[in-house]
Amino acid sequence: MTEFQRIILVHYHEIGLKGHNRASFEMRLLKNLEALLADYPVVTIHRISGRLLVFLREGTNRETALAATDLITAVPGVARVSCGYKCERDMALMAEAACTALGEVKSFCSFKVAARRNHTDFPTCSMDMNRLIGAALCDAFPEKRVQMKDPDVTVGVEVVQNASYVYAKSVPGIGGLPVGSSGRVMCLLSSGIDSPVALWKLARRGALCMGIHFSGRPQTSDASEYLVDDIAQVLEHTGCVARVFVVPFGDYQRKIALSAPPELRIIMYRRLMFKIAERVAKRQRAGALVTGESLGQVASQTLDNIRATDDAVDMPVFRPLIGTDKLEIIAEAKRLGTFDISSQDAPDCCTLFMPRNPETHAKLDAVRLAEAALPIDEWIEEILEKVECREYHCPACSPKSAAR
Ligand code: ATP
Ligand code: MG
Repeated sequence: MTEFQRIILVHYHEIGLKGHNRASFEMRLLKNLEALLADYPVVTIHRISGRLLVFLREGTNRETALAATDLITAVPGVARVSCGYKCERDMALMAEAACTALGEVKSFCSFKVAARRNHTDFPTCSMDMNRLIGAALCDAFPEKRVQMKDPDVTVGVEVVQNASYVYAKSVPGIGGLPVGSSGRVMCLLSSGIDSPVALWKLARRGALCMGIHFSGRPQTSDASEYLVDDIAQVLEHTGCVARVFVVPFGDYQRKIALSAPPELRIIMYRRLMFKIAERVAKRQRAGALVTGESLGQVASQTLDNIRATDDAVDMPVFRPLIGTDKLEIIAEAKRLGTFDISSQDAPDCCTLFMPRNPETHAKLDAVRLAEAALPIDEWIEEILEKVECREYHCPACSPKSAAR
């Protein structure tokens, strides 16, 4: 049996729509994949006509190839991933590689062959390749049937200048755009279920995401900071988070709680959080804030209260989950791998000094008046001095740029 070199073919979708920016999107995806696959036996990654081709080292076993495939499917910008082999431009070898590739697909009933040649210097036309390789597969898998419309597996065969690529197993990717192709955002990251999903959604749209977490420290333990770190490590696997800023916020909540009208406390905490997040965002050259709010989910997420918090900042505030139901968010968090971490209880600033009857329809004038009685600007400067930064591996973010 011939031993072929394993390859992984990465298909993208939306990048293809970007016209003359296309090359830079493709390069961004290529660089992201290169860095994220650093622990895998990757020889090189090439761009070929609308796809990326990952070459694995000779002798790479199936499990390793599948693990690399799994990772690639979760990387923003990837629409579909196919596993297969590189092979010489020789019909007999190509048919053998096709049999090996199809043999690695777990359960299927039907298949078809889709061959193409990028160079007409290869003597066999694509129709004949389909026929010849299809016949070899029928011999090797007599219990399976050929089906032209909606087959379970499409065996791809591509002949390029010096080689051919043959693949069978295809897995859908998460789609979107490569991280680093849509600017920077600052995500308010609690240790709850929603905000990691909100961050991920922006990352999937190509934004380079930073997180900012407000800890109840020193009024509470630092447990929520550990959970946020665990969450960031999950997001880091696919290059979705670059930094997380941790703000010890408990003392300032206490100060607000001591002097502000109880029903306005939450809005005032949140306005201060937004103001600090905006300042850190500006330092980091981020253009928007992101939260995990969903309309009506809790008292602070009514239309009036959202307006009253947005009023604290000039930056746009994105709420990618605003129209999403909790059950849908939970399903996303499970898929993402953050749900179990977020389900652990940790006191953070949300659980601290909560009023019994929070205002659900805050009047902007009343909020502004209450805030004007506090030395907010002074506090902001003090708090900014205490912000801590944690770095995560994000291929789209150069570690050289200032962390604070
Ligand atoms: P989550 O599950 O994301 O914590 P939630 O349903 O608990 O959201 P809230 O606690 O009202 O709702 O928070 C709404 C949003 O405000 C969060 O999604 C997050 O973006 C931001 N937020 C809340 N608490 C914090 C915090 N301690 N640090 C940073 N951001 C926070
Ligand atoms: Mg929360």
